[in-house]
Amino acid sequence: MSATLLLQPQRVMRAATKRTFHVWTVGCQMNTAESAAITAALRQRGLTPVAQMDEAELVVLNSCTVRESAEQRVQGTLANLAHRKHEDPDVMVALTGCSVQPDLDLMSQTMPMVDFFFRPGALDHFLAQLEEREVVGAPSVAMPVMSHQAPVSTYVSVMQGCNKFCTYCIVPYRRGREVSRPIAEVVDDVRMMTARGAKEITLLGQIIDHYGRDLPVKSHLAELMEAVHEVEGLERLRFMTSHPRDMDERLIEAIARLPKAVETVHLPVQAGDDVVLKRMRRQYTVERYLRLVEKIREIIPGVAVTTDIIVGFCGETEEQFQSTLALMDVVQFDVIHAACYSPRHGTVSASWDDDVPQEEKEERRRRLDAQQEETQRSINASLQDAVVEVLVEDSQSHRQDVPQWRGRTRTNKLVFIPREDDDLRGQTVAARIIKTSPWALQGVVA
Ligand code: SAH
Ligand code: SF4
Repeated sequence: MSATLLLQPQRVMRAATKRTFHVWTVGCQMNTAESAAITAALRQRGLTPVAQMDEAELVVLNSCTVRESAEQRVQGTLANLAHRKHEDPDVMVALTGCSVQPDLDLMSQTMPMVDFFFRPGALDHFLAQLEEREVVGAPSVAMPVMSHQAPVSTYVSVMQGCNKFCTYCIVPYRRGREVSRPIAEVVDDVRMMTARGAKEITLLGQIIDHYGRDLPVKSHLAELMEAVHEVEGLERLRFMTSHPRDMDERLIEAIARLPKAVETVHLPVQAGDDVVLKRMRRQYTVERYLRLVEKIREIIPGVAVTTDIIVGFCGETEEQFQSTLALMDVVQFDVIHAACYSPRHGTVSASWDDDVPQEEKEERRRRLDAQQEETQRSINASLQDAVVEVLVEDSQSHRQDVPQWRGRTRTNKLVFIPREDDDLRGQTVAARIIKTSPWALQGVVA
């Protein structure tokens, strides 16, 4: 999934006196979405969320293992919990996310501090285990999930897993094969979110442009988007992550045609050299990728294209890395999430020589980031004085001593607007851009 590793614990509020829980989350937006679903389900079963992990009787760790840095955080948190359990054996620990391997018996042998394992997306399995152990009762109708306000911009997962098996990637081993959710189910979730105040929904899947191919009656992401588009109260619709191999004209046209579908496409390229792409088993060439971007820009005017890149993959030469910089120069991406290659046990490339030294990987990432900063500086500078549509998500008080509203353009650019008396949260406003930087825009209500 994209891209951004949101290394943030999920914060939840302390309430009454019932059994308490805390959901801790690292990793991609998929995990963020699943943690929200876990939180809602536990609440509905009468458990009380608490903000501090140390105060919770049940701790759910939603883990990530896409890169070693995330895995180390998970291991560190597990070690702390093992220590706490030693002192208080009543504390319960549940583990989900990409650290959970298919063989759950083996997992319980190697991680005795964990009471419950469940694979990503297998929330029902977890709830059944909790019921069996009488940690929770049946879901309560008196405490509908609907009762809590949703973020203005939030996620709905539409499929699990990935069949692609890129050579560096652990995801297919941990999240399994592609399983799409039926359209009606996704629409119900979107309805529930908008009823709770969400205005923008990002549909999530590891290769979301392959959505629906596994359903009994085959479907297509364009069809799903059309159905979701009808939901009242929804103002913006996004989706991620697309695979360049599966993005077709039907989908690109749907984005262009549906007014709520915003002009942003996240299309991970991973590398700008055909030899490296082949070794990664990405199933496209640089030329094919460039043609696709051209087509996207032709059909969706003003579209923002963002990407993920891995630097220092096995055997990547300086010259091959420079091809990535050259590709970036041609495409002019709006945003890039760059990562140093990190061998993942069990993947194909883990058995290859990880021959680019760590310092060199970091140096390449620094060069990449520096080039991208300049690109973003110039893309954002072109918005000076423009009037853009901003969906206000929240407020921020610590910027420039003046309280600010924080929102995003349809192209997902961060915009700050000075905060007056009006409550703009959840509103779509026209803002004139008065200042730009590579990372954000400063606007005033037009
Ligand atoms: N399904 C998405 C991304 C999944 S993982 C796709 O096809 O692109 C999210 C991002 O993590 C990837 O885009 C990739 O850039 C990065 N990533 C995955 N495995 C990695 C590894 N072993 N080392 C470094 N980065 C990795
Ligand atoms: Fe991983 Fe490749 Fe699947 Fe993305 S498409 S999740 S990178 S295997």
